[in-house]
Amino acid sequence: MINISNMSDNLSKNPNILRKIVVISNINAGFIEIPGKITLNLYVQGCKNNCKGCQNPDLLPFSGGKEVTEEHIKVILKTKRLPEWICWLGGDATFQPEGFKAFNKLFHELGYPVCLYTGQNFNDIQDLLNDVDLVIDGKWEGIPVTEENTNQKVYLKKNNEWINVKKFIDLKEIIGK
Ligand code: SF4
Repeated sequence: MINISNMSDNLSKNPNILRKIVVISNINAGFIEIPGKITLNLYVQGCKNNCKGCQNPDLLPFSGGKEVTEEHIKVILKTKRLPEWICWLGGDATFQPEGFKAFNKLFHELGYPVCLYTGQNFNDIQDLLNDVDLVIDGKWEGIPVTEENTNQKVYLKKNNEWINVKKFIDLKEIIGK
């Protein structure tokens, strides 16, 4: 796991850091969030989706976590050149809309595609998806998106159009190249 505590302490002394923040519980590298891709996973603090049997109850309160700036992220991406995609998990990043949008714009400027896991409905968050490339939506109902009878849906932006990908595993083929 990447230590964002030390990074926060060091970077908070830098007066040039004025950009928007998001509150994040932890950051790590992932290998299963997108089939066949290495992701930099941002676990956001705070969620109002109230899924029964929530998978990450520690991340429900909006208190706690660490305030992470765009500068932190730039440092992480510079030192950890591994990720091919950025992935938002949580918690739910859609409840920090300003930071979420600002960060996604930065990721695109840096050349990283962006994936969002959200308990909200895809159709209800359209105004947040300008710089998002992949959405896995739907409340947690006990069946992961990797299973055929899941309630969660997969949406991929291709040529500026959203397409509904029927099976999660098909992403490997569709975005594998
Ligand atoms: S979206 Fe995730 S963090 Fe939020 S209530 Fe549902 S399972 Fe919990």
